[in-house]
Amino acid sequence: MRTSDDPSEQGAGRHSGAAGAGLRAGAFGPNAGLRAVLLDLDGVLYVGDEPLPGAGEAVERLRERVGAVRFVTNTTTRPRSAILGALRRLGFAAGEDELFTPAALAVRHCVSAGHRRVALVVDDALHEDFAGLERVERDVDAVIVGDLGSAFAFEPLNRAFRLVMGGAELIALQKNRYWLTPEGLSLDAGAFVAALEYATGREALVVGKPSPDFFGAVLDTAGVPPAQALMVGDDVESDVGGAQRAGLRGVLVRTGKFREDRLSASGIVPDAIVDSVADVPGLLDRL
Ligand SMILES: [Mg+2]
Repeated sequence: MRTSDDPSEQGAGRHSGAAGAGLRAGAFGPNAGLRAVLLDLDGVLYVGDEPLPGAGEAVERLRERVGAVRFVTNTTTRPRSAILGALRRLGFAAGEDELFTPAALAVRHCVSAGHRRVALVVDDALHEDFAGLERVERDVDAVIVGDLGSAFAFEPLNRAFRLVMGGAELIALQKNRYWLTPEGLSLDAGAFVAALEYATGREALVVGKPSPDFFGAVLDTAGVPPAQALMVGDDVESDVGGAQRAGLRGVLVRTGKFREDRLSASGIVPDAIVDSVADVPGLLDRL
């Protein structure tokens, strides 16, 4: 299941013409006016602890060609500091201000909505990212739900359920259906968010991808409008569909959690589909 072990993924650079169906004329090339590239992490730059072939070089080439590079992830099992450390350990030169996670957007929403008292239904490791909010179990303004991994169980879900029924806002760090681990596809936070939505009859506010606010907040930091930005991801819905709805161009990679049937079922037409992130700099040379 490890993408990097799949022979069809090796030497992805050889398939520079592999963009295939869905490459929109004028969307790329030297005159497309691209000034920012947003890169998903898991499944695009690495899978597990293995960087994907050519990913590091691709990031540097994109940085030279386009200017602003932003690393955007829906990961909610590790705090921002750990993700940044892992990126650098794997050889990606990521700046402190270039990495964006859903937790930061959740804090931003709570501050602007006046939510001071929150309950966290997230991995313990993530608590440091919510240091600015008051963690409580009663008189809760908002319940923030992320991926608990194998710790997801009836008790934390039922606690969240009761708080939302009591009037707290339901905030989902993300709503991804699944992600690719070295052991195979695994349930992501979306499955549990959906369970809470079903039981409470409320819709969660999703702050991570594919929320347009997420893409907007990231682009604000680069001072680049969506029309001049490109998102690269392995999740056709959260990465590509979300980016396109926010006005960015969306490129789908055939690594990580990519599945052909998921693409056709989504109804989403990526601006380009490439074998891996190693092929993205080449897109910028295409007319
Ligand atoms: Mg991904």
